[in-house]
Order: sequence, then structure tokens, then C-alpha cells
Amino acid sequence: MKIIDRIKKGQEEGRMPFSFEYFSPKTAQGMVNLHDRIERMCHLGPEFIDITWGAGGSRPAATLEVVSNAQKVYGVETCMHLICTNNPTDKIDKALKEARACGNQNILALRGDPPHGQSEWSACEGGLAYAADLVRYIRKTHGDYFGIGVAGYPEKHAESPSMEADLLHLKEKVDAGADFIVTQLFFDVPMFFEWVKKCRAIGITCPIIPGIMPIQAYASFKKNIVGVHVPQWILDGVEPIKNDDQAIRAFGVEVGIKMTRELIDGGACGIHYYTFNLERSTRLILEGAGLVNKTVYIKKNMPWRSSFDEKR
Ligand code: FAD
Repeated sequence: MKIIDRIKKGQEEGRMPFSFEYFSPKTAQGMVNLHDRIERMCHLGPEFIDITWGAGGSRPAATLEVVSNAQKVYGVETCMHLICTNNPTDKIDKALKEARACGNQNILALRGDPPHGQSEWSACEGGLAYAADLVRYIRKTHGDYFGIGVAGYPEKHAESPSMEADLLHLKEKVDAGADFIVTQLFFDVPMFFEWVKKCRAIGITCPIIPGIMPIQAYASFKKNIVGVHVPQWILDGVEPIKNDDQAIRAFGVEVGIKMTRELIDGGACGIHYYTFNLERSTRLILEGAGLVNKTVYIKKNMPWRSSFDEKR
């Protein structure tokens, strides 16, 4: 099912849609751990899960393995990321064909960052230049089969000369055929809603899903806030406890609950959690914000569940 339809359905049924993002693991053990986590986190009831495409175009098979398992074994809707970096159109064709074959119906179409060791972006031979080109390419080759999402930047993309230019390029992606937007992570909720207003003012009408990152460790927090405005109360909360991992995680849950509630109150159409392949903080945030029932841990998504239930 397409994500846009799941979001609409969730809203009609009075649910606040939420989703999780995972990165494709680099090792066999990482793959096993991730599958276990996805299985457990599916019981929280995400509307869909995203699987990233390895930076620079690495490990496409790992992305497809996670997508395939999540769709077929855990029965959760997936959104597969696909990038232009080091991905000529014949490889894009192969990835889309394989995604379809395992039941995936959603792609997050991205340009990708420059390959490792290259400071400026350039398209590979036989490849595409911008995410908008990838959206057009998917529509040209697969019609309406895929739901397509694109990335949005509430604090503008780092390479963009201005917010205005960045917004026009975002609109180009939507006009090319994207039907929803997922944002880069942010911590300033009022700033996110101001940016949404700017999107609406230039005619972007599709759902815009805010992406937020639970603070789970001091080092990864510092690494991921480059170019991101972090409200002073969060910085003041983090700095005195930076050497206490447990306290950082507890504070991160508090921040996540507050942001989740503010996003719900402000009318967000859904919330996307950058899990960094970890489970606990995201689960505690969802529980704390009242988006999941703490007792819901039945294996409702297991493929053998329905036949088991029928036999009873
Ligand atoms: P684009 O939309 O193509 O924009 C790139 C830059 O070009 C922007 O500055 C834009 O303003 C500008 N631009 C666009 N069109 C034009 C034009 N016609 N003329 C001139 N300038 C133009 N990376 C990965 O490698 N794997 C992932 O799985 C992944 N997942 C992500 C998920 C999300 C939600 C987000 C926000 C980012 C993700 N990224 C991922 C990172 C992303 O690939 C980088 O941020 C990348 O630098 C930009 O990708 P984009 O799709 O936004 O590019």
C-alpha cells in the first residue's frame, strides 16, 4: 500500500501515523540484530518503515534484503531509499524491479551526497543529476505503481544558496511526481511549522512528515546537529550530563516526548523517527507521548498468526 494512502487511512481512523527509519547494516550480525529489532518494533504499529540506501551507493543488496524481510516476514509497509550517487539508470532499474518483486510500493527518491573523497556532487556516467530527475525517471518507467517521497530541509540543504532556491527545488520534486515529503532531522518545532507555511505558500500541498532523532548518545547527537538549530534548553540539558550515557538517553526521551506532543498539537500529519537502528528510546518516546499502548506486544504482524488464529 502506498504511504500516502496509509497516512490518510491512519488519520481517518483517528490514529497519529508514525514511522521508523533504519540504516542497512554493514555486517551479517548487524543484519540479524536489525531484523530482531524490526520484528519487535513492528508491534508498536508503525505506519511504515524506511530503509536507507548506503551512502555513496554502497550495499544495495543489504537494503533490499531488509526491505524484502520487512515486507514478507513482518508484514510491515516499507519505503526503500534510492539515490543517484554511483547509481546509473541500469542499476536503478534493477533496484526498482527487485523492490517490486518483494512487495515494496514506496521509494524515497534522493540525490545522495558526493561519493567518499569527493567534495562536490557530480552525476555518474549513465546516471541522474538531481532527486527530481529520479522522481521523473521512476514515474516514466513505473507509472503510478510506486508512492514516491522526497527529502525536505526545514533549515535548507547545505549546498543551497538560499532557502528560497531550496524551496523551489523541493517544489520541482513534488511537481515531478512525488507524493509526500520527509524532512531532515530538526529540534526546533516552531521553526518546522514556519517552514511548512513557506512550503504551502509556494504551492506544495502534499503531506510533509517531520523527521526527528531521539538523542541516544552524546557523540552521535553532536555529530548530527551540524547545521541544525538546537534550542538552548536542549543544549543546556545535554552539556552537564554529557559523560553519563544513561542520563543522556533519559533526557533524550524527555526531549522526544515534548517534540512529539508539540508536533501533534501543531497538526503534523505524521512523525518519522530516525531510530539509528536502536529501539528503546523510540519506544519510550511513543509510550510517553501516548501514541502506543504500553501493553501492546502481541505478535500481530507475524505471517503464521492468521493461520494460527483460524485454527483456534
Ligand atoms: P536534491 O533534491 O537533488 O537537492 C540537492 C541540492 O541540489 C540541493 O541543494 C538543492 O537545492 C539543489 N538542487 C536541486 N535541484 C536543482 C536544480 N535543478 N538546479 C540546481 N540546484 C538544484 N543519503 C543517502 O546516501 N542515503 C539515504 O538513504 C539517505 N536518506 C535520506 C533521507 C532523508 C529524509 C534525508 C533528508 C536525507 C537523506 N539522505 C540520504 C541524504 C541526502 O542524500 C543528501 O542530503 C543529499 O545531499 C541531497 O539529497 P536530495 O535528495 O535532497 O537532493
